[in-house]
Amino acid sequence: MGISYIDVALCNGCGICVKHCPLDVIRVDKQRRKAIIKYLRDCQSCALCEEDCPEHAIYVTPWRERRLVAPW
Ligand code: SF4
Ligand code: SF4
Repeated sequence: MGISYIDVALCNGCGICVKHCPLDVIRVDKQRRKAIIKYLRDCQSCALCEEDCPEHAIYVTPWRERRLVAPW
């Protein structure tokens, strides 16, 4: 759930995902010029990063794909 991966082969390090993420989850590794998932636990699956990435390098798992834990 949440941001699942950033395809480093596609990422060009533009930083748009960092600017558009409302919860400050992503950072750009300046040496490698690639985005990295830094604070996964803060991700709320809003998918703005996925929608706005010009290289289509990000995949976000929607909340509906979460598995429920049965209480029995
Ligand atoms: S918006 Fe896409 S291409 Fe740009 S840094 Fe983020 S993942 Fe990489
Ligand atoms: S899905 Fe939303 S909260 Fe999660 S990393 Fe992308 S922009 Fe940030």
